[in-house]
Amino acid sequence: MIGHPSYPVEPWCLRETELRLDLLAQAESVFALSNGHIGWRANLDEGEPHGLPGTYLNGVYELRPLPYAERGYGFPESGQTVVNVTNGKVIRLLVDDEPFDTRYGELRSHERMLDFRGGLLSRTAEWVSPAGRLVQISSERVVSLTQRAICAISYEVEPVDGPARLVVQSELVANEQLPDLGGDPRVAAALSAPLRPEYDFARDAGALLMHCTKAAMSHVVNCQEETGIEAESFPDVGRVTITAFLQPGQRLRIVKFVAYGWSGMRSLPAVRDQLDAALTAAKRTGWEGLLAEQREFLDDFWDRADVELDGDTEIQQAVRFGLFHLLQAGARAEARAIPAKGLTGPGYDGHTFWDTEMFVLPALTYTVPDAAAAVMRWRHSTLDCAYERARQLNLAGAAFPWRTIHGEECSGYWPAGTAAFHIGAGIADAVVRYVHATADEQFEATIGLELLTATARLFRSLGHHDAAGSFRIDGVTGPDEYSAIADNNIYTNLMVQRNLRAAAEAAKRHPKRAQELGVAEEEMASWRDAAEAMFIPYDEALGVHPQSELFTSHEVWDFDHTPPENYPLLLHYPYFDLYRKQVVKQADLVLAMQTCPDAFTEEQKARNFDYYERLTVRDSSLSACTQSAVAAQVGHLRLAYDYLAEAALMDLADLEHNTRDGLHVASLTGAWSALVTGFGGMHRHDSTLGFAPRLPEGISRLAFTITVRGRRLRVEITESVASYVLTDGEPLEILHYGKSLTVSVAQPLVRPIPPVTIRPSPQQPPGRAPVPRMLRATQRTVVIREARSG
Ligand code: BGC
Repeated sequence: MIGHPSYPVEPWCLRETELRLDLLAQAESVFALSNGHIGWRANLDEGEPHGLPGTYLNGVYELRPLPYAERGYGFPESGQTVVNVTNGKVIRLLVDDEPFDTRYGELRSHERMLDFRGGLLSRTAEWVSPAGRLVQISSERVVSLTQRAICAISYEVEPVDGPARLVVQSELVANEQLPDLGGDPRVAAALSAPLRPEYDFARDAGALLMHCTKAAMSHVVNCQEETGIEAESFPDVGRVTITAFLQPGQRLRIVKFVAYGWSGMRSLPAVRDQLDAALTAAKRTGWEGLLAEQREFLDDFWDRADVELDGDTEIQQAVRFGLFHLLQAGARAEARAIPAKGLTGPGYDGHTFWDTEMFVLPALTYTVPDAAAAVMRWRHSTLDCAYERARQLNLAGAAFPWRTIHGEECSGYWPAGTAAFHIGAGIADAVVRYVHATADEQFEATIGLELLTATARLFRSLGHHDAAGSFRIDGVTGPDEYSAIADNNIYTNLMVQRNLRAAAEAAKRHPKRAQELGVAEEEMASWRDAAEAMFIPYDEALGVHPQSELFTSHEVWDFDHTPPENYPLLLHYPYFDLYRKQVVKQADLVLAMQTCPDAFTEEQKARNFDYYERLTVRDSSLSACTQSAVAAQVGHLRLAYDYLAEAALMDLADLEHNTRDGLHVASLTGAWSALVTGFGGMHRHDSTLGFAPRLPEGISRLAFTITVRGRRLRVEITESVASYVLTDGEPLEILHYGKSLTVSVAQPLVRPIPPVTIRPSPQQPPGRAPVPRMLRATQRTVVIREARSG
């Protein structure tokens, strides 16, 4: 059993065997469907009860003022908040005048299932109405991965123990009332009635609502008995009502097709026509056709991306759950962002952070590279905002926003917002990673080079050469948000070093484009000089790297007197105190060792890892995946396994207690990185990919497929050997523990895994150790929940 008591472990699906009203909102996130363009939270068909109604269109947001008690130069004036758009999921049922509502009558059974291979959410319920009529209800939903504007629901109802008059109201509902989301800074601002009605229309079995976003629906009804169908529309509701009088065993089946569209530029009639076209195409494909397309799309994805794991069925399920949501968030985003929560909830206002490039894109780049390129195209499309922001900050190049939907900076708290300049280097790293993985020169010469140049220019102007010639980047915030405005954050400096070098090399490879961007030899030389002279502080006395200059001389946080209920610390202590002490919210120097491993010796890595373990409290869901990967690399295999479980189960076990606001997409996809770069030891080395696999006790086999330079490479690891084979394409050179191999389709290359030196486990702050994975599963579930709720 995993965190939620009614989610049994199964390899290819997530099933909920009982409806828990107290956990509704969490389940709505976990079972959410999306194609990266549209997001449907798993609200019940009948609309109520709900935890948090949610329907999102990627990129649709509302502006809201950001008021300040004391304003300062360059503070953003307004924020962007994701909008809950028209809800097309609603299908209300009345059985002999009584509304189907699980809170009334008797719910005899209720089950939902998210099928990772079929890409659909199904539901079955047996309900006895307050007047005593037993009915069976079943529904299936898809948000189409092939027809991007389309969602569809197949809804069936059948009276069981006597005749019943059934009324089904299938609706489009705009401006739903949202519950108060409380004062947690990680949740969203609730906007009241953000959708302004423009036009509504109903005819036959369909209706259309036009607000700033447009939604239309159409139905196909099947029934053994005669049915009545009426359609009506109001500014905020479109409704199709279907009535039938059925005998036991007779069934009413409705297939509802919903299309969404919006455009900042196209006229109302043009968007209406677009919706009509999408609906017509979907109806022509038909329900079965949509399911077949969905299945085919997912078969291809799993061929490219599946991760198999023997020895731990719970993690196997969780990893596939994460990959499924990665696909949903990124597959069809198409030049739009991947927000921190995907399109599964309104958490963080629907904003996109560095999570995308640093945590989500690694997995996407090696599984669906085209989707990764599309996300970078979105970043590129926001360059004008980033140039403007840099100008406002008196810097060169482009200053990408810490959090945004459309491209403008939306962080009103600049020490953990604007000052987190490292996001620019993360964007550059995504370009380098993508080009390394795909050899897509066209991309590098266009979008890639411009992103690299814009970020390199920013950093060249942000840092300076000191009297001794070192290049310093002072006064910035690194990944650890419990330290701010610090000098020479090592993660930032190393990533910027890579950014500067990559920009110079790419400009050299594409001189014509470089010239168009105004990059002269002199500028390239200045990037190379700065990279060469990059200052990386080191604490000789302790023999470790301070995450930022002087960090290791700060007072250590008083962990012994911090009660468990005071985590996360940001909700219980003032930032000024967190900032001046040694306490780490999330992997920072440890992340630097994951992303830039060549900058550290093996001994330094081991010592640094142990040092930061004692200080890291994991108040961010972005931490465990990185700690897992680096723990595996430095020989703490058990600990790596424990952190892997935490990252993978983040939402299934609701470890941060806020899955209700949406999934932690970075942590879920970070679990892929923990497996592939941690236990698989995958790393970039010059122009090749290297592997240094090692498995922890408890996982007897790990297999994964990645796409490298257009070829699919399958890696299979057991305790003693690793095997590498291509499933298609020309031979490929890779490294196994530093030794070059040429892999081909013919024969798997099998190589022994050298013994790993296991080192004594480091300490974490009291009460912050991850839950040991080797406990028995049920016992562990209880421990995980207790540990995280303090
Ligand atoms: C983390 C950030 C992250 C954000 C969104 C914060 O808690 O500290 O690094 O970008 O959450 O996931």
